[in-house]
Amino acid sequence: MKKTPIAVIGLGRFGYSLIGEFNKMGYEILAIDIDQASINKVRDIATHAVRADSMDEEVLKSLGIRNFDIVVVAIGDDIQANILTAITLKELGVKKVIAKAKNELHGKVLEKIGADIVVYPERDMAVKLAHSLVRDNIIDYINLSNEYSIFELLTPRQLTGKTLAASNLRQKFKVNLVAIKRGNEIIVTPTPEEEMLASDILILLGHNDNLEELSRLN
Ligand code: ATP
Repeated sequence: MKKTPIAVIGLGRFGYSLIGEFNKMGYEILAIDIDQASINKVRDIATHAVRADSMDEEVLKSLGIRNFDIVVVAIGDDIQANILTAITLKELGVKKVIAKAKNELHGKVLEKIGADIVVYPERDMAVKLAHSLVRDNIIDYINLSNEYSIFELLTPRQLTGKTLAASNLRQKFKVNLVAIKRGNEIIVTPTPEEEMLASDILILLGHNDNLEELSRLN
């Protein structure tokens, strides 16, 4: 299947890392930055790299930006440039504009002007790191809302060897076991007879408080 081309505007650490990942995943990438040195750094990992001011609507038009299904605004410190770029992209008809926000207020403005996804990489990374540093059994997690998340949790010792039926996860902890990662295998919607092994990673969906409680089990 042909992959949709992606544009990344602003090649700081975040934009640069994104391009590296998209490149590994085989996407066609247009990289844009106002600074020539930043452009030179991505020459080997982006399909096209163009030095331009993304606040200039005509330049964005001439680059055919509306043909990109996904455009990421990764400009950080210059909030004005970040917001004006996001507005221009939406006005030009880009379907999915993903914009990086420095803080909550900045994020709200981006949402108001129609950015489709607002990301807070610094905040999210710090939150993830804080969780993983204090509890090494939480492998990863995704916040679905302020209250609900999906946790990847190493099987707590108290549950090791128990079947799902015996562990009573839903009644006792009010969480749903969505899948079990066992080595390279993923057991989707496991049956009540499935046993949880010590090395299993449990993929659980539930309220943050309940997931936290479960992650504190030993
Ligand atoms: P990171 O934490 O990802 O390094 P940052 O918050 O430090 O990001 P900046 O360095 O402020 O982000 O911005 C990222 C890039 O955006 C810089 O390389 C900068 O040259 C570029 N940039 C800033 N303004 C514009 C603009 N108007 N048009 C295009 N690129 C821009």
